[in-house]
Amino acid sequence: MSINPEIAKRRTFAIVSHPDAGKTTITEKFLWFGKVIREAGHVRAKANRSYTVSDWMKIEQDRGISVSSSVLNFPFEGCWFNLVDTPGHQDFCEDTYRALTAVDSALVLIDSVNGVEKQTIKLMDVCRMRHTPIITFINKMDLDGRSVLDLIDQIESVLKIKAIPFTLPIGVGKLFKGVYCIADNTFNVYNAQSGHQEILQMSGPDDPKLVELCGENWVNQFREEYDVVTGGMDPFNHELFLKGEMCPVFFGSAVTGFGVRQLLNAFADLAPAPMPRETDKRTVDPSESDFSGFVFKIQANMDPKHRDRTAFIRICSGQFQRGDKVYHVRSERDVRLAAPTAFLAKDKEVIDTAWAGDIVGINDPGLFHIGDTLTKGEKMSFSGIPDFAPEYFARVTLLNPLKSKQLAKGLKELTEEGATQLYQPFKSAIPVIGVVGELQFDVLKFRLMSEYGADVSLDRIPSFGVRWIVGDPAEVEKFVTDNGGDCMRDKEERFVCLFPNEYRLTLAVKNYPELKFVETSLG
Ligand code: GDP
Repeated sequence: MSINPEIAKRRTFAIVSHPDAGKTTITEKFLWFGKVIREAGHVRAKANRSYTVSDWMKIEQDRGISVSSSVLNFPFEGCWFNLVDTPGHQDFCEDTYRALTAVDSALVLIDSVNGVEKQTIKLMDVCRMRHTPIITFINKMDLDGRSVLDLIDQIESVLKIKAIPFTLPIGVGKLFKGVYCIADNTFNVYNAQSGHQEILQMSGPDDPKLVELCGENWVNQFREEYDVVTGGMDPFNHELFLKGEMCPVFFGSAVTGFGVRQLLNAFADLAPAPMPRETDKRTVDPSESDFSGFVFKIQANMDPKHRDRTAFIRICSGQFQRGDKVYHVRSERDVRLAAPTAFLAKDKEVIDTAWAGDIVGINDPGLFHIGDTLTKGEKMSFSGIPDFAPEYFARVTLLNPLKSKQLAKGLKELTEEGATQLYQPFKSAIPVIGVVGELQFDVLKFRLMSEYGADVSLDRIPSFGVRWIVGDPAEVEKFVTDNGGDCMRDKEERFVCLFPNEYRLTLAVKNYPELKFVETSLG
């Protein structure tokens, strides 16, 4: 099937990084290169971040962090980019993981000083599971960072992906001179003040002009690295890149915009347009004329003036027109998607047409769940939108007992957004919540109070982790009877066990050989 040009120019990606690696800074540069914003100033100190483009909830501003994921669009070199933001604070949440189910490729952003960090490793696991193509940018070359070969080695050994440098830096920190582009033998001169790039043609890495520009010591070091990189490493293979097994690596400095243009060019040239996606029935090609998509995120009350919920839909095939009627597979009902919104900065603008690869936010009357599929009538469901087992747990005790209805409503609505899981213990009436990142406890407490008037105390439950209990129903029931104190029901009424320690899990695996205790549920 020939691919529609509108779809072919879509690049839908997310940024995978650890807090402080420069995600917000580089996002602003992307918007600047896309001419969406006129000025990409320095990102101010965190506490002062209220103006940054992807912050929109009050709590984000109070904390100076980005809590909810947003979608930003910008054009560049004939391509249309959808950047799905990933909440990037220390205690990231399920939304961060789920954002990766909505993209076709990812930018891995690494701080040259800190190297590969914890959150990047966790997110990279999700990319690997999904075979997401990766492009890596090593940021902050204007600081005294780690050695080039050390960084490349870390990407390969820690992130477990073959790394192919497309550029190599010359100099580092205050003496950073620029990057050498291996494919076309150009040298991009770094200008700390303007961030502008002067591009000079070289005859090769031995060109004497390099020594004039950068000094002998730095050039000697660069030539050694060049020999290692070009001599010992595999050539870039686009097929392996598309399978998520090999990634191009770029070096630069996001704060000055240096190296960002090459990075965007790489996304335009190498990253895939929307690719076919699997459902439980068949593979869906993005160029099919019929619309299809799935909900990957739900967010309540984005606009404090209206108590609304927005469902974020990744379009997987066809074209979507404002006012179209679509089929909601789970409820077997037709729904009219009246006001899809595209998101840019704080402003919502209503859009008329969206294509496969795009993300649209639509008003949710309470109908949608994460993972729901929308089609033009076909009964199928997109697969691979997992529930991730939370890592932290707490009992929810209501402090103002007259608000029990509000609490129930708040817990239901906020957990439907997906960042928090709600459980009903088998032997107690006090609900339990589970989160992927600890910060979600604060977010939940804050929102239950500010949006629903329910003041709660969240009492942490020390535990090893939760597992779905899978197997023959009679066997599951036996387990639940024997271990009732640790068992709970999830939102889909499936049984889970909250193991207090690893020993108890090992014991369960040994004593109930017919049962499986699984960490990721595919619903
Ligand atoms: P995020 O947490 O990943 O969104 O990181 P930010 O974009 O907020 O950046 C964290 C800090 O690193 C900020 O103070 C930025 O100004 C700084 N930063 C970002 N990119 C660079 C860079 O290329 N060089 C230097 N020296 N600092 C940078």
